[in-house]
Amino acid sequence: MNNELKKIILRKGKEESLGRFHPWIFSGAIHHTEGPAALEEGDTVEVLASDGRFLAIGHWQVGSIAVRVLTFKHQPINRAFWQKRLSAALDVRKTIGVADQESSCGKSPADKRNDIYRLVHGEGDNLPGLVIDIYGPTAVMQAHSVGMHVCREEIAAALREVMGDRLRAIYYKSETTLPFKAQLGQENAFLWGETANDIARENGLAFHIDWLKGQKTGFFVDQRDNRSLVEQYARGRNVLNMFCYTGGFSVYAMRGGARLVHSVDSSAKAIELVEANMELNFPGDTRHKAYAEDAFRFMEQMQEKYSLIILDPPAFAKHKDALRNALRGYTKLNAKAFEKIQPGGILFTFSCSQAVNKDQFRMAVFTAAAMAKRKVRILHQLHQPADHPVNIYHPEGEYLKGLVLYVE
Ligand code: SAH
Repeated sequence: MNNELKKIILRKGKEESLGRFHPWIFSGAIHHTEGPAALEEGDTVEVLASDGRFLAIGHWQVGSIAVRVLTFKHQPINRAFWQKRLSAALDVRKTIGVADQESSCGKSPADKRNDIYRLVHGEGDNLPGLVIDIYGPTAVMQAHSVGMHVCREEIAAALREVMGDRLRAIYYKSETTLPFKAQLGQENAFLWGETANDIARENGLAFHIDWLKGQKTGFFVDQRDNRSLVEQYARGRNVLNMFCYTGGFSVYAMRGGARLVHSVDSSAKAIELVEANMELNFPGDTRHKAYAEDAFRFMEQMQEKYSLIILDPPAFAKHKDALRNALRGYTKLNAKAFEKIQPGGILFTFSCSQAVNKDQFRMAVFTAAAMAKRKVRILHQLHQPADHPVNIYHPEGEYLKGLVLYVE
């Protein structure tokens, strides 16, 4: 079994993190490689300790994370393997209650129906380098490693088997997530089927999903629970949704009974999406307005009339090096919101930068509150939802954090 696999032999003592089931092997841990041919990016490799002991099987690629571990067992990586992992991932989504609501007659009221969820969240589902989001009958699959790219057809076949009738199409969207230098010639395209229906439902609200050109897989699936919380607080409030993208938070605030909702994003395309999503759910409702503007400029000039503000900016720090600037960015942004929010206002503030941890983010927001000299209570501490699980052996998988604050 797996006799044909090329082998990576680690330096002495470098097997320790694998003993703790951490799924990454850094390039510095590798002593040498063995096999009938030179390693090629995306190869499935066997990882051995310096004494020849079997440790794991994973995908190899050039870069600081050299191997992403698929299994700590000696087993073939084939369609049956993918099927088992995908099936385990689907079971988790059923347990959480985000999948299969339509088919479980009467379980979920029509006004809360949900067919948008993340089926596979990389390391969190023991499938490092792979993301699969479900939008109604369409799965959008994204490879973040060359190995997953190489295996895409086999994974798609396994996905069809696991999802059965639920799926009508699989769209592959890895143009921007794979290492640029690997020159894989990848392009975004349907791997199977095709669908023109771009509307899916999150907790009963309808959204156009632009998997062809949109950010990530077309939608920010990770804010579902936090959007619901906004809905609960929105009644009678003047809501400002900064960095709105497709307007997820705005649509929930409307349903929650907000007095007015203003959505802001610097991208004109995003503003078109918000308007379209608003039209789907609240046609002709004049409570909503959207502005294509820079967030900082908008907040500088805005009146002090908002009583619920959402700040969900893009990742300010993509890498550790950018950390200090990122923290300054969060402080500056939040300080503006504290300065201008009405007394008794609620601030939802987020960071999706993996490089910024919970304490650092909290400190940046604390600094901002002090700068604005407002009295602030923490009402909720938020994080990514259960369909973005964190592998307990891979704490790096925790990335989304948020605070709900009551500003006196
Ligand atoms: N809150 C959104 C996701 C936000 S993604 C949701 O729930 O779906 C971040 C968004 O910030 C992107 O749409 C991007 O266009 C926008 N953006 C980035 N820089 C910005 C800036 N300086 N001012 C306003 N919007 C900005």
